[in-house]
Amino acid sequence: MGHNELHDVAFPLHREQRLQEPPYRRSIQMNSIAILGAGPAGAWTALTLLKKFPGHRILLIEKEDVPGGITASFQWKGMIFDYGSHRLHPATSPDILRQVRDLLGDHLLKRPRHGRIILEGRLVAFPLKPADLLFKLPPSFSAGVILDTLGSPFRSSGGKTFREVLEGGLGKTVSRRFYFPYSEKLWGLKPEELSPVQAQKRIASSSLGSMIRKALSSLTGKNEGYFFYPAEGFGEITGKAVEKAVSEGVTFMPDSSLLSIERTADNSSWKLVMENGSSLKADFVFSTLPINTLAKAMNPKPPEQIMEAAGKIEYRSMVFCYLELKGARYTEFDAHYFPAKNLCFSRMSEPKIYRNTRKPPCRTGLCFEIPCSQTDEVWHMGSSEIAEKVLQDLASAGLPEPDVTDCTVKRKSNIYPVYDLSFRENTAPLESWASSLEGLVTFGRQGLFVHDNTHHTIEVGMAAANCLETDLSWNEKLWRKHLEEFKSHVVAD
Ligand SMILES: Cc1cc2nc3c(=O)[nH]c(=O)nc-3n(C[C@H](O)[C@H](O)[C@H](O)COP(=O)(O)OP(=O)(O)OC[C@H]3O[C@@H](n4cnc5c(N)ncnc54)[C@H](O)[C@@H]3O)c2cc1C
Repeated sequence: MGHNELHDVAFPLHREQRLQEPPYRRSIQMNSIAILGAGPAGAWTALTLLKKFPGHRILLIEKEDVPGGITASFQWKGMIFDYGSHRLHPATSPDILRQVRDLLGDHLLKRPRHGRIILEGRLVAFPLKPADLLFKLPPSFSAGVILDTLGSPFRSSGGKTFREVLEGGLGKTVSRRFYFPYSEKLWGLKPEELSPVQAQKRIASSSLGSMIRKALSSLTGKNEGYFFYPAEGFGEITGKAVEKAVSEGVTFMPDSSLLSIERTADNSSWKLVMENGSSLKADFVFSTLPINTLAKAMNPKPPEQIMEAAGKIEYRSMVFCYLELKGARYTEFDAHYFPAKNLCFSRMSEPKIYRNTRKPPCRTGLCFEIPCSQTDEVWHMGSSEIAEKVLQDLASAGLPEPDVTDCTVKRKSNIYPVYDLSFRENTAPLESWASSLEGLVTFGRQGLFVHDNTHHTIEVGMAAANCLETDLSWNEKLWRKHLEEFKSHVVAD
């Protein structure tokens, strides 16, 4: 199996165009606002700031050579791939959906959800449907679901761990035979080692009743039976947002990884130094960087207690294995979910189905998501070795053997924040340290250490921009109000 170079990414601006006249070589007279990170949060902060601060220089600073963060797409072997399955969920607010439509036009496709889960060796629709829970799974599973439903009025809700909350809400069967192995694979901890907050954030159906109601509404096509997806890959959403921001005056700085940040000598602004040697001044900084990256970049170093907390919070990493296959399609399903712990991947997706395309006619591609920590063996394995492991596990899962012609692997850190039982003891001091910094706010998935969807982080990015007053003072009261509202965000898979 060969290993091909990844081709250029799906970002519309030409590289030369983006790199012309780096802003740090020009003298800066205007007030500057810097946004760190060009994922969806940073992109929408830029778009919102443009309207409010027409006379200011707005700099969008990104470590990678393209915008998008985790939501970016790239091309490989003439096909477009994402970093794992990404969908714009129907829960997206009408305002954000309108903005995305304005950016993408008819490129924003409405697609039916058509996924499957391999549960105890059986293939059933995902999101789960009540009829499948009762009739398509092993009899002991179905009987367990019936007993759990009957017993639900007698179970106590809430609890001190992820395990207690789930078993109280969903009962033992769905919890132990689906959610617990799946969550252990995703976050690397046993259900009793995870905080109950993980359940509030990640499990959209907190009781069997609500799971059944959601499933029924998807059957009637009212709610979750569809999703939105851009014709050129999920990265088109943020790519187009940044393209618009640049066309209206934002300076996009790719390949610029923040190395250090400090107050200027007169304490009037921030000095940002990048790993590529460039530096710039900013009157206000919006940071969507991982909060521990920000703490480590701060000069002088934050107090020891803060550095200790920054060292203790943990983000899960992910290895993405991409396969090129012969044949127009591998399956008719967009994604397959694999909770079983003996299989290395948690999900497999086929981008051609998301994009509703027949091109290329005789080839297709698959993406496998392998959640891991950077001390795991899989993080260090070579592409072919990972592909072999994936193929072995695919066979154990009972799926057909794909006719593989090539493979490639990508790795990303900061994929999922891990909510262990003591995560609040570390995030609380970090948050209060960050909020004590004048002229800087930290937000977005990484900055707030939250599980979220793209539509949530877009909302957070717009809200952050709106909290900066025209005199560049920060409206902390309004921001606190928004932070409370964001707590209600629940992630859809
Ligand atoms: C496997 C997976 C599947 C998902 N599926 C969905 C889905 O189906 N639907 C959905 O709505 N959401 C989904 N999400 C969530 C979605 O990806 C996030 O909500 C979104 O990416 C968060 O955007 P953000 O801008 O807050 O953060 P990010 O996307 O993480 O962006 C942060 C940016 O900061 C940059 N950066 C980091 N360090 C530095 C530095 N030192 N200097 C400069 N720049 C830096 C990064 O390169 C990145 O571009 C999924 C997430 C994962 C992990």
